[in-house]
This record gives sequence, C-alpha cells and structure tokens, in this order.
Amino acid sequence: MSTVAAYAAATAGAPLERTTIERRPVGDHDVLIDIKYTGVCHTDIHRARAHFGRSIFPMVPGHEITGIVTEVGSGVTAHRVGDRVGVGCLVDSCRTCENCKAGLEQYCLGGSVATYGALDRNGEPTYGGYSTHIVVDQDFVVRIPDGLSLEQAAPLLCAGITTYSPLRHWNAGPGKKVAIVGLGGLGHIGVKIAHALGAEVTVLSQSLRKKEAGLKLGADHYYATSDPRTFEELAGTFDLILSTVSARLDLDSYLSLLKTDGALVNLGAPEEPVSLNVFSLILGRRSLAGSGIGSIQETQEMLDFCAGHGFGAEIELIGADQINEAFERVLASDVRYRFVIDIATL
Ligand code: NAP
Ligand code: ZN
Ligand code: ZN
Repeated sequence: MSTVAAYAAATAGAPLERTTIERRPVGDHDVLIDIKYTGVCHTDIHRARAHFGRSIFPMVPGHEITGIVTEVGSGVTAHRVGDRVGVGCLVDSCRTCENCKAGLEQYCLGGSVATYGALDRNGEPTYGGYSTHIVVDQDFVVRIPDGLSLEQAAPLLCAGITTYSPLRHWNAGPGKKVAIVGLGGLGHIGVKIAHALGAEVTVLSQSLRKKEAGLKLGADHYYATSDPRTFEELAGTFDLILSTVSARLDLDSYLSLLKTDGALVNLGAPEEPVSLNVFSLILGRRSLAGSGIGSIQETQEMLDFCAGHGFGAEIELIGADQINEAFERVLASDVRYRFVIDIATL
C-alpha cells in the first residue's frame, strides 16, 4: 500500500478537497503510473453529485488519465518503466462473459470495474485520476503514441473513445452526413474525428457563439438549435446524429433530422428518463440507440488514429485548486473544450 495525494468529494455534492488515499501494492500484472494529466469529464460532475444515484464516497473522480509508468509487476509484458500511457473509464472486467470474450469489455455482463466510484474485484473502492498515482492491471492500460502530448491525449481516454466508437460502428465516412449535438468535451473531439474519417460534419449547438471555432475544428456546417428554422431547414438530412448533450433533449425534433434508416445515437447522460413519439422512428425506419465508451483495443486504435491525423483534444490546463470552478464552468457550457488538470499542482 502507498499513500498518495488526491482531490476528493467527501459526500455527494461536496466541493472537492485535497486529501490522501491508499493505492494497492503493485501486483504481478499491475502497472504503477505517475499521473501527469487528467481531463475533467462531465461524468465526473454527474457522479460526484450522485446524479445517477449509485455513487461511493469519498470519491476521487477522473477517468481521462495520462502519465508515465514507474513500476511494473513481474508478469507485465505490455508496458515498461518510462512508457507514456493512458487509462480511461475501466480498470477491470470479468474477462469471461460473452462480451468480454468478444472484445466488448465496456459492455461486460459480469460487471466491469469503473476507474472510480466502483468496487474492484477485492471489494475495495476504486479512485480515479484526480490523484498523483494509480495502480492498474496492464490489460487496461493503453499506449500514448509519440506525437501526442500527454495533456492533449488525456481527454481522448473518455471523450475521444466515446465518440470514435459510435462513429466507426455506424460507418461515418465519405458520403455520410453526420451531426454532432453539443460542442463540449465529447462534441469537439467528435467533430475532429468525424471530419478525419471523411464525413460531412454539422454541429448543432445551442447558439452560434462557438461557430467560428467549430468550423476550425473541422465542421462543414454549424447551426443553432435555439433557432426553430434549423429544424425546418435540416429535416431529413443526416445519416447519423450523435448527441453529447448532458440534459434532456426533445428527441422527436432531433429524430426528424434523420434520413430514412438514419440513427440518433445518445451519448449524453441526462438524469431524467426521456420520452418520444414512436412515429418519429416508424416514419423513416429510424433508429434511436446509445453507446458507451469503447473497448480497450478500440481505445488504442482511436489514439493511433488521432496521432496519425495529428490531433489531440483542445484543452484548457488548470491547477488542482481550480477543479471546483472548472465543474461550474462545465455546467455553464463555458469550456473550450476540455479542462485538464496539471497533476503536478496537486
Ligand atoms: P460537456 O463538455 O458539458 O458538453 C456537453 C455539451 O452539451 C455542452 O457543451 C453544450 O454544448 C451542450 N448542452 C449542455 N446543456 C445543454 C442543454 N440544456 N440543452 C442543449 N445542449 C446542452 O460534457 P461532456 O464531458 O462532453 O459530456 C457530455 C455528456 O456525455 C455528459 O452527460 C456525460 O456524462 C456523458 N458521457 C457519456 C459517455 C458514454 O459512454 N456514453 C462518456 C462520457 C460522457 P453547446 O454549448 O454547443 O450547446
Ligand atoms: Zn468521461
Ligand atoms: Zn465480462
């Protein structure tokens, strides 16, 4: 066991404060990572405030982690001391269920272990990347390719894979019209990836405030959803819509923007149940789907893809003492486009 510094919420909704936590000893298959940067995902806020009801406190959020390997267990073959590595939303899964065997451990039927706010297979709580070190099984650690800075790579570990996976699954590419709803952490990287895949990309944002920046990220078109004419003009346009909105959406309006056979994929996680008129699906054989992060192998593929295309996330680097302020700014959609904590300030 070793005691390391961390930022934690003591109870649901409490401000995050500096504290210490215990990390397990480095096991045979474990990697000890000296964390350098951790992205602030909107999910960190949902969970630190127990929006989904099932949270464990004290909570150390953070599942967009990059750093350097400083120790490896005797059975570790995939990573070496000094390697630049990343950890995303998962640190373990059952490895025996149908989905794990199919390389879909993000949908593990036996219960995957989230990087924070969960219990590991020994029943110990997991603590995330708002801390100086983490011990992770080698199978859940990915390589950060050369050419990607650790700070710009960090948000890819959640925001990157969460948009890459559905873009690939629903075949975004040349000839496909893709809309990204919400230009925040997930949305901005979704725009970059969809553009790099060759799709025609439209941003649907609440206002035109970020239009110029959105077009620079790779969007071909940019519309404000606060303007009702947007929904008239774009009716029946898209093959694929990814919603990254953290609040409830009027699904019927967004479904009306799909072509026949188009899919609206929900990535955002509003607290309240959603409803829709089934005719929004029936008329046009449209699909409403969801998607959760991606597998470890696909996360590696995504990192290599982003490095190959020469981009990481657009970030605002913050000190640990700005975490609570950063949460408020994310809630106010005042982030361009991801806060990343410089863990050296912790
Ligand atoms: P974020 O940076 O806050 O981005 C969300 C964006 O949604 C905002 O920038 C804003 O974009 C738009 N938005 C916010 N409130 C809205 C409202 N009331 N109506 C319409 N649009 C609104 O958050 P994020 O980190 O990208 O995460 C987005 C959501 O995805 C969160 O709910 C998070 O928990 C969830 N998530 C899911 C997965 C998964 O595996 N499915 C993984 C990670 C995160 P504009 O300013 O452009 O309108
Ligand atoms: Zn996340
Ligand atoms: Zn499993």
